[in-house]
Amino acid sequence: MIYLDNSATTMPFDSVIEAVAANMRKNSGNASSLHKVGIEAEKVVKAAKQTILAALKAEGDIFFTSGATESSNTVLFGVPKTYRHNGKRMVTTSFEHPSVENPLRELEKAGYEVVRVKPPRRGESRDFEQQIIDAVDENTLLVSVMWVNNETGFVTDTAKIYKAVKRRNPKTIIHVDAVQGFCKLPVKSLAADFISLSAHKIHGPKGVGALYRAPGARFEPLLYGGGQQAGLRSGTEPVDIIAGFAEAVRSYPDCGEKYETLNDRLINRLSELDDVIINSYGNAKNILNFSVRGVRSEIMLHFLEEREIYVSSGSACSRGKTSGVLAQFGVSDKDADCAIRASFSPFTADSDIDSLVQGISDGIKRFRR
Ligand code: PLP
Repeated sequence: MIYLDNSATTMPFDSVIEAVAANMRKNSGNASSLHKVGIEAEKVVKAAKQTILAALKAEGDIFFTSGATESSNTVLFGVPKTYRHNGKRMVTTSFEHPSVENPLRELEKAGYEVVRVKPPRRGESRDFEQQIIDAVDENTLLVSVMWVNNETGFVTDTAKIYKAVKRRNPKTIIHVDAVQGFCKLPVKSLAADFISLSAHKIHGPKGVGALYRAPGARFEPLLYGGGQQAGLRSGTEPVDIIAGFAEAVRSYPDCGEKYETLNDRLINRLSELDDVIINSYGNAKNILNFSVRGVRSEIMLHFLEEREIYVSSGSACSRGKTSGVLAQFGVSDKDADCAIRASFSPFTADSDIDSLVQGISDGIKRFRR
């Protein structure tokens, strides 16, 4: 199998499977229990927090959640409750993941003003980060921006936004959905008061994520219950998959150069085919979105699947639904209909890229009219 859909989810590292299994066998207590078994479980949770903080090169707190969707919902609904006197304006991008965009729509219904800044078009010299900064005024309660876009790989310099927004309005809280960049990009372009993370995008288990909180930042909880995690995220900590999450963070190798090489190889090989256009620009090199004109994404996706090559139809965020995000990056509806997203992992080899391009070339011969 050639799995090139790592932005959707990743296959767990062997070391992660072993860490989860070992923890389930030996150390699966309740981290709130006062006895030895509970204390051992609590140690696992504490160590996992330290692992994630070290990877972020940040000080602060980590709360474990069910995934990035919950982390982002916690911030988007919990921060306005705490800082309700700071204003009613929120600034975001026009290409957020639904786990941020849909809560923002709910907040709009509740009377918040949401400003969505569009990305620059390919080759346009517009300073995108500066536009986000300029959209912040004295009534801006929250800025929420994604680090790496999941459909095109577009990277936003959140560190630049963080610094300038804090100068402009020190009360504004900044949230970053860092799901697609974590462990893949250097953290020098990541800074925020709150950061959403997900284990299953980095070869960890599904069903566990994290919310980073910078020192001093506050929020009201989304879930009320037994008061775990300082009362801010009730529910028994899933110690086993938390151990797996930490193992994934430790195991993810530095793939910066590898992804650059794979990205260049894919672009070069695709340029040999007629009427294939690259939709990604300014992208993290592990994600490449392109359109094979004349062959609809789903047809190509299933043709490649017959060869056990797995990619994503580049415009879909969930089965059959187009997200409209590609349009934000200047991709026409027609090209979005033919879009494919390939996303790499530390296991991806040059030969996988060659097999993908061969498959696309054969698919074009079979289906293009
Ligand atoms: N944010 C981005 C950019 C994503 O790609 C995803 C997953 O598709 C999420 C958030 C949601 O993450 P989770 O599946 O952990 O809820």
